Amino acid sequence: MAEIGFIGVGNMGGPMARNLLKAGHRLKAFDLSAPVLKTVVEAGAPPAAGAGAAAKDVEVVITMLPAGQHVRDVYLGAKGLVETAAKGTLFIDSSTIDVAAAREVAEAAARAGMAMIDAPVSGGGGGAEAATLTFMVGGPDAAFARAEPILETMGKTIVHAGPAGNGQAAKVCNNLILGASMIAVSEAFVLAEKLGLDHQKLFDISSKSSGQCWSLTSYCPVPGPVPTSPANRNYQAGFTAAMMLKDLKLAEAAAEQTAAATPLASRAAQLFEQMVASGRAGMDFSGIINLIRESRRGK
Ligand code: NAD
Repeated sequence: MAEIGFIGVGNMGGPMARNLLKAGHRLKAFDLSAPVLKTVVEAGAPPAAGAGAAAKDVEVVITMLPAGQHVRDVYLGAKGLVETAAKGTLFIDSSTIDVAAAREVAEAAARAGMAMIDAPVSGGGGGAEAATLTFMVGGPDAAFARAEPILETMGKTIVHAGPAGNGQAAKVCNNLILGASMIAVSEAFVLAEKLGLDHQKLFDISSKSSGQCWSLTSYCPVPGPVPTSPANRNYQAGFTAAMMLKDLKLAEAAAEQTAAATPLASRAAQLFEQMVASGRAGMDFSGIINLIRESRRGK
């Protein structure tokens, strides 16, 4: 069993940390928010006084932070992890951040004699609780081999996607598909309403036809066909519109840096921007169907 420092124990990090404790690992935890930290302390992880203290005398440090700037600050800032952790420490960053920042932090960690992987996740809060997350991993083979047994206590599917940054590249590409497909499915249901075609009938046909996709069959944006989807509980998140917008902006940044054409991702980002600006940032992203229903052709 490993000695682990866990930094950022919010909606995702909290249940991930608790699954590590359940598996018998010894944890020290740190979060800027005292109430958030308490939920993990009560599960058996002593609180650390700061990120540096969480990384002291441990073999592994896991970070689950909101965005790229937080990750840069915690790893590269004054008294950051790269400066303070013991040589040879394994860093696992599971936050969703931009590919460039992931590669910059990984290079600094390697120069300081640390092993590092980027290991963003898919599966949401439910997957974190149930330890069924998908981990998309970027980094050297040796670091992946050390991390794999630890990731297996928090997830079900662990894929090594290549060198540093490739985990974030996979995450950004996956969520580009998710954002664009949710809009396409929502448009189809709104068009069906206008054409007098019943939601359930469209679902029964498309779920068995070439329109089949996760946004339709697991996360259907209209109430009824998939009882577990957020549409059945007034679009309570789930995965918020604000988070989807963040991920589409990461896709846009990656496309910009590589001169890749991503016309659908650009349009999807605009639509989620509109949803967020309309006061629905905290609503589930499948609530985009309401924005589409309210819109008029040509507007
Ligand atoms: P969250 O806001 O609930 O948790 C992040 C935590 O980090 C907060 O508790 C915050 O206080 C803490 N924090 C911020 N800066 C810190 C610092 N300098 N030191 C210590 N703690 C700090 O967010 P979340 O939903 O757990 O998401 C975390 C990451 O996972 C994000 O990058 C998100 O994009 C990604 N993600 C989230 C989901 C989801 O469904 N929530 C799914 C997949 C990926």
